[in-house]
Amino acid sequence: MAFEDRNLKCVECENDFVFTADDQDFHSQKGYQDPKRCPDCRSARRSGGGYGGGGYRGERQMYTATCDQCGNEATLPFEPRQDRPVYCSDCFSKVRPAGGGGGGGGGGGGGARW
Ligand SMILES: [Zn+2]
Ligand SMILES: [Zn+2]
Repeated sequence: MAFEDRNLKCVECENDFVFTADDQDFHSQKGYQDPKRCPDCRSARRSGGGYGGGGYRGERQMYTATCDQCGNEATLPFEPRQDRPVYCSDCFSKVRPAGGGGGGGGGGGGGARW
């Protein structure tokens, strides 16, 4: 069965795009429907942008504060609060085992080894 290039209209941006014979062959083998979107819009969707074209890539907002312990600059993944001491990552790892109970949902799980 021979395929010919076809022009389809993208439902998203309404531009015409070519549904190539190769693609048609591939789609029919897989049992896919005709594509509704041009390659541009498809890749835009896949990369997650979607709404409003925002470039949000899951990057975390980081905050800087002064470490309570050593006075160095500390980078925090959360907004520092007045009623809680702030530690740099260095001091945090020293402080945490002694503190107990202040679990931050970190990596390692319980410290119940002793
Ligand atoms: Zn499009
Ligand atoms: Zn520190």
